[in-house]
Amino acid sequence: MTEAGIVVSWSMQAGDTMQIASIVERAGVPAMVKFALDTKATARQPIRYATFFLRGGWKGLPPAAANVPQPRPAAGTKPAHCGDPDCDEISRTREVEDDRGLRHLERCPDCHPASKGQAA
Ligand SMILES: [Zn+2]
Repeated sequence: MTEAGIVVSWSMQAGDTMQIASIVERAGVPAMVKFALDTKATARQPIRYATFFLRGGWKGLPPAAANVPQPRPAAGTKPAHCGDPDCDEISRTREVEDDRGLRHLERCPDCHPASKGQAA
């Protein structure tokens, strides 16, 4: 915030702090800074308190996912794709043929989240 030229007091009540924390998580800091800059540009009076932004619109910021399309879940929810051509990158399953010639889907032993940490 301060790097963006916004110098405001962050003194606020505990409830406000928690709201801001949840907005940071939901909308992301860049969206909040952009909103603050826009607000500052149109404000008639100097803005001294971060709670001004909180009450003025941060609460209404859309989730960051709505602004930035994310084709995949955020990193960390799944292990990296193993890259095997038999392995479906989305479902992390492989089509395998068993000894009776029946094809079925099986969790990828290399990169399916449920396979991680299991004893080999
Ligand atoms: Zn895999």
